[in-house]
Amino acid sequence: MVTDSFQRPLKDLRISVTDRCNFRCTYCMPLDEYEWIDKKEILTFEEIERIAKLFIARGVDKIRLTGGEPLVRQDLHLLIAKLAKLEGLKDLCLTTNGALLANQASALASAGLKRVNVSIDTLDKEKFKRMTKRGDLAKVLEGIFAAQAAGLGPIKLNAVVERGVNDDDILPLVEFCRANGFAMRFIEYMDVGNSNNWTSAKLVAKKQIIDLIHARYPLREIGRDQGSAPAVDYEFVDGQGDIGVIASVTEPFCSSCTRSRITADGKFVTCLFSDVGHDLKARLRSGASDDEVGGFIAQIWSGRADRYSADRLAALNSSSYDPKSHRKIEMISLGG
Ligand code: SAM
Ligand code: SF4
Ligand code: SF4
Repeated sequence: MVTDSFQRPLKDLRISVTDRCNFRCTYCMPLDEYEWIDKKEILTFEEIERIAKLFIARGVDKIRLTGGEPLVRQDLHLLIAKLAKLEGLKDLCLTTNGALLANQASALASAGLKRVNVSIDTLDKEKFKRMTKRGDLAKVLEGIFAAQAAGLGPIKLNAVVERGVNDDDILPLVEFCRANGFAMRFIEYMDVGNSNNWTSAKLVAKKQIIDLIHARYPLREIGRDQGSAPAVDYEFVDGQGDIGVIASVTEPFCSSCTRSRITADGKFVTCLFSDVGHDLKARLRSGASDDEVGGFIAQIWSGRADRYSADRLAALNSSSYDPKSHRKIEMISLGG
C-alpha cells in the first residue's frame, strides 16, 4: 500500500469516463461550451482497465465511475464488465445524473455494477429544469426506480444545496427517500471549477441542514463509513433509513482523504481542487511498462500533500478567502 506525505493511503479511484454532459447544472458546468477534450485523447476502455489494475496493485479497492455524465459514454456496460472482473476490487459504483439510467440500468447491473448514486437536487419539475438547464425530472425519477428494480442498491441520491435556490427542497427530498428506501446525501455547495461563481453566501452549512431535518425527523449520528468517507451519516431514530451530509466546506475531511482521480484524458489528479494533472496516458501510449507506470503512480501519491478544503476553511474563518485566486481543473473533467 502506498501512503502520501500525511500517511494517507491510496484507497479510492474516481475515473471520469467523459467530460461531456447532457445537463448544464448551474453549480457545476453552467456554460454551454467548454474546451472539450478531443475524442482521440479520451482514454479507451482498455487503457482505463490497465490503469485500474495498476491502482489496485497499489492499494485501491474501490472504483467510482463519474464524469461529466458517465452514461453518455457509449457502451459503458462494456467497461463495467472489464472492471468488475478485476481481482482485489471490493466496490464498483457509478455517479450519474440519472437521465439515461432507465435504458441502461439492467445492462449495467448484468455487467457487474454494484450500485449507483444519482444526483437530484429538487422534486419540483420547473426548478429541476432551471437548475440543470436541460434536465427532465420525470426521466431521472424513471431512472432511479429502474436502478432500484435492477438491484443497483443501496441507492444514494445526491443533492447539492444552494441557498435561496433549493434549501426548501431538503425536507421533500428526505421524505421521498424515506418513502422509497433511498439514502439521501446532501452536499455543501463547493467552489469547484472556475465558472459557477461560488460565494460563501450561497452555502448552506451541514449544521443547518441537520438541524432542519432533525427538527422534523429526529436523527442519531453514525459517523463516517470506514472512518474516511466524505459523508457523515445519520440514522432516523424511528428506524426509517439514513441520510448523510458531505460537508467539504464547513467540516473538511482532508486528513482522511484517500481519493485519487483520473480525468477522461488520462491525467492523474490527487485532489478535487488541483490545478495540475500527471499524464498517465502519455506514458501508456509511448509504450511504458506496467512497472514504469505503476512506479510513477506511487511516486506521485507519495509526494501528495493536498489539503485544499482544510486550508480553505482556515482562510474563510480569517475572511481572506478568494475563490478566484486559485485556478482549478473543471469538475466535468475530474468527476465529483
Ligand atoms: N454527472 C454526474 C452527476 O451529476 O451525478 C457525475 C458527475 S458530477 C460532477 C458528480 C457530483 O458532483 C454530483 O453529485 C454533483 O452534484 C456534484 N457537484 C457538482 N458541482 C458541485 C458543486 N459546486 N458543489 C458540490 N457538489 C457538486
Ligand atoms: Fe453534468 Fe453532473 Fe455537472 Fe450536472 S453535476 S452538469 S449532471 S457533470
Ligand atoms: Fe481530498 Fe482535496 Fe477534498 Fe481535501 S480538498 S478532501 S485533499 S480531494
